[in-house]
Amino acid sequence: MKIEIDTRSGFCFGVVNAIQTAEQQLNSNGDLYCLGDIVHNEEEVARLQNKGLKVISHDYIKNIGEKKMLIRAHGEPPSTYQLAKANGVEVVDATCPVVLKLQERVHQAWLEMKKLHGTVIIYGKKGHAEVIGLVGQTNGEATVVESVTDLTPINFTVPIVLFSQTTKEPEVYAQIAESIKTQMEKHFGSKNIPLKVNNTICGQVANRKNELASFAEKHDVIVFVSGKKSSNGKMLFDSCKQANNHSFFVSSTDELQPEWFKNIQSVGVAGATSTPQWLMEKVAAAIEAMDQNLS
Ligand code: SF4
Repeated sequence: MKIEIDTRSGFCFGVVNAIQTAEQQLNSNGDLYCLGDIVHNEEEVARLQNKGLKVISHDYIKNIGEKKMLIRAHGEPPSTYQLAKANGVEVVDATCPVVLKLQERVHQAWLEMKKLHGTVIIYGKKGHAEVIGLVGQTNGEATVVESVTDLTPINFTVPIVLFSQTTKEPEVYAQIAESIKTQMEKHFGSKNIPLKVNNTICGQVANRKNELASFAEKHDVIVFVSGKKSSNGKMLFDSCKQANNHSFFVSSTDELQPEWFKNIQSVGVAGATSTPQWLMEKVAAAIEAMDQNLS
């Protein structure tokens, strides 16, 4: 049986950067607090915890003292930086440069919309750290929508600027933008609608869906490796499943089942942007061992 690891799966550069920053700090200080999971992957979080990383929530910031606190790739709202400063905590900022840029754009759009009595809308997962960080750039005034259905209470008679969380689905974003445009046309007519749709889905994620579908079609079985909390993992797994019905989701080697690999020629191992390479390799090795036991 042939086993192939998808070369395009695994950490995006934002996550690589955050983990490298954490490891550098841990190697030189041995003490680092991280606000939330550094990546939505339980196994990678456990690996870094073994090196001394302490995962905390916002409530704990007041207890850190004059130690260092890492801000992960998703970013944080301005209130978090203020809270750290007020408590004498040194911030090590590993916000992804793409997210930082998006935060700035959301802030500028909010300032502009204030002048025009308009609205900033963000397509994203409510409660997701990146989205909380973005909404923080608008003094909490941006509206977060997860689907077209969430648009019902929006006032379409004022200017609107639309953004997407970096890891959301391009198709749903296009539907939301189209629905807003249709509603606004009823008030403004079809020309000069005051709607600005920003293309802010990260290229590292947007292209993966199609690439992953092609990879999934090539193999008899796909084992998709991801943490259960990763929204990007859920979305990419759905693409795998659509392309290849024999796709299985696992978070660790314990969840592999030998019957998935009976009488097949090839297995593809893929993962989310939050899945470490070493974990995909571990899963591939475990599948190989199962294959040897089966034969
Ligand atoms: S998905 Fe893109 S924006 Fe998000 S952390 Fe990774 S590189 Fe940065």
